[in-house]
Amino acid sequence: MSRVYIAYTGGTIGMKKRGGSYAPAEGYLSERLAAMPEFAGDATPSYTLHEYSPLLDSSNMRPQNWQAIAEDIAANYDDYDGFVVIHGTDTMAYTASALSFMLENLSKPVLLTGSQIPLAEVRSDARENLITSLLIAANYPIPEVCLYLNGSLLRGNRSTKVSSSGFEAFASPNFPPLAEVGVDIDVKERLLLAKPGGGLEVCKLKEVQVAALRLFPGITAPSLENFLLEPIQGLILETYGAGNAPSNDAALLSVLARAVERGVVIVNCTQCLQGSVDMGDYATGNALRDVGVVSGYDITPEAALTKLIYLFSLNLEPNVIRQKMRENLRGELTPTV
Ligand code: ASP
Repeated sequence: MSRVYIAYTGGTIGMKKRGGSYAPAEGYLSERLAAMPEFAGDATPSYTLHEYSPLLDSSNMRPQNWQAIAEDIAANYDDYDGFVVIHGTDTMAYTASALSFMLENLSKPVLLTGSQIPLAEVRSDARENLITSLLIAANYPIPEVCLYLNGSLLRGNRSTKVSSSGFEAFASPNFPPLAEVGVDIDVKERLLLAKPGGGLEVCKLKEVQVAALRLFPGITAPSLENFLLEPIQGLILETYGAGNAPSNDAALLSVLARAVERGVVIVNCTQCLQGSVDMGDYATGNALRDVGVVSGYDITPEAALTKLIYLFSLNLEPNVIRQKMRENLRGELTPTV
């Protein structure tokens, strides 16, 4: 009989309305689950639910919370067949991406799920999200961090939140879903990462100074310079289209060049939901490549940011980090050149 460990970190799924707005409520989710016979039936895998304290709206999460989740999974790794992380949807794509890098040699499924409407409400999407996540975690040996919501099983580090109100809250614009979930659950084996050799290891995250900046028409050299002030170590630059930025502003480019020389790792990610960066396509992209900005190809900004934190935590030199940002480490990007 398969067993699943549930790490319950917070999110709408277990929230209660207080004074007109939703906030997590201690003990409430397990109370509701206990009152639902389908969670105790023979068809549902047996599970242990560990409620975190305090429960968090995921907008309040930080890298320390990713660390706590990763270590919790590692501490229970040998006793369970799969793991479900109940999490708010707001920063779920960041946590899923971070865990994918931090959990080295992961060979069991880790599924993040949550809901748009609390479990306790009549039209809640929580019941299906949770039951299907439990079934997948218990029965399919997927060696990856995934995200499950509303019939979509996505690779965690390819996912992004695309709707604040729809049940189809996440998309994986540059990689197909890992399963078709309908009457049957059809996991696409050929899309999964290879099962690693060796035991699970958890990366210890360090205090790292990284940031993301979305380019906009009219951005000035002084404001970019402020953004890149010490102690910044890495920047995800969200550029236009296929990785383009103004090539007619020498001052702006020189701010980037000087930061790169100082050892700041600057990664080019597109603002487009779908498609890849190619700095060879346009003169406006060449300009970035020439000052030492590296391509993130088709990585999501969420995965790029968490990958930078992970790589800096390994104490690597900036040039090694630049190289690794261009490599596919956990299925997070498709290098094109
Ligand atoms: N604000 C909530 C959270 O991210 C939203 C949700 O769970 O859907 O925790």
